[in-house]
Amino acid sequence: MDIDNCCDLHVHTTASDGSDSPEGLVALAAGAGLKAIAVTDHDTTAGLEEAARAGKKFGIEVIPGVEFSINSQTGDMHMLGYYIQAGSGSLKTALSRVQAARARRNPLILERLERLGMPVSQEELEETSKGGQIGRPHIARAMVRHGYVNSVGEAFARYLRKGGSAYAPKSILTPSEAIGIIHESGGLAVLAHPISLACETRDALDNAVSALALKGLDGMECYYSEHGRDFMEICLAIAGKYRLVATGGSDYHGKAKPQIALGRGRGGLCVPYECVKALKAKLKNMEI
Ligand code: AMP
Ligand code: ZN
Ligand code: FE
Ligand code: FE
Repeated sequence: MDIDNCCDLHVHTTASDGSDSPEGLVALAAGAGLKAIAVTDHDTTAGLEEAARAGKKFGIEVIPGVEFSINSQTGDMHMLGYYIQAGSGSLKTALSRVQAARARRNPLILERLERLGMPVSQEELEETSKGGQIGRPHIARAMVRHGYVNSVGEAFARYLRKGGSAYAPKSILTPSEAIGIIHESGGLAVLAHPISLACETRDALDNAVSALALKGLDGMECYYSEHGRDFMEICLAIAGKYRLVATGGSDYHGKAKPQIALGRGRGGLCVPYECVKALKAKLKNMEI
């Protein structure tokens, strides 16, 4: 594998639930020899300015991104936006709506945990998130600190997963809304980690992607830390069928997900830089 040609188009910083600052993360990416990274924090663009400055400082291409949580019936759907203009009015409005929904959701989860005999305070979450957006991983880590569970994984599996006893829904955007917002802000909409849609068959995944393609989806994250080779091949085939740009990323979160390495995922990941070229070509076509 030639690291010189690898990029990572899905990473999280302290602006959401990653543990590296935007500048720290860009420095790591440059040090690792990656050709480009896209910063894709959950429902926020707060880390993008710092990341862009760091890109110039460390000499690495930094693509502005965001990862929207989508309200979907099955599994978990996330939509990545690439090359979004952070100053765009419709993006700002959408992000403040989604962030408000998140702020309403966290107290609900804390209430449920309290009822289960596992109190966690809002203040300690604010302390550990250091001003970044608070999500379930922060709550899970607090539960480990209190000794309620042994690991973040256990906190999710027993209480915080979708349908778990302390779970509260957060997403308010439909797929069409998210795709529309991303397009209005000048970006490309890419379905994140199709594995998390939890489609049981290839046909089910094909149908789900087909529906999104009709709504204007531009790309599909085929190379991903949790995609086995067979699943990646299926994604590449489906992306080709619907003329979607195949993209990829590790979903690096730093210490918050220590098993995932920047650029490398679980060890063997290399997202080819051709993905960035294909995104740029698609963007150019849209402008014409
Ligand atoms: P939220 O944004 O609050 O819905 O939380 C989503 C975050 O939780 C994402 O960063 C996921 O990577 C993380 N997450 C989801 N399931 C698990 C799990 N089983 N173990 C650890 N982290 C998880
Ligand atoms: Zn995350
Ligand atoms: Fe995601
Ligand atoms: Fe992510």
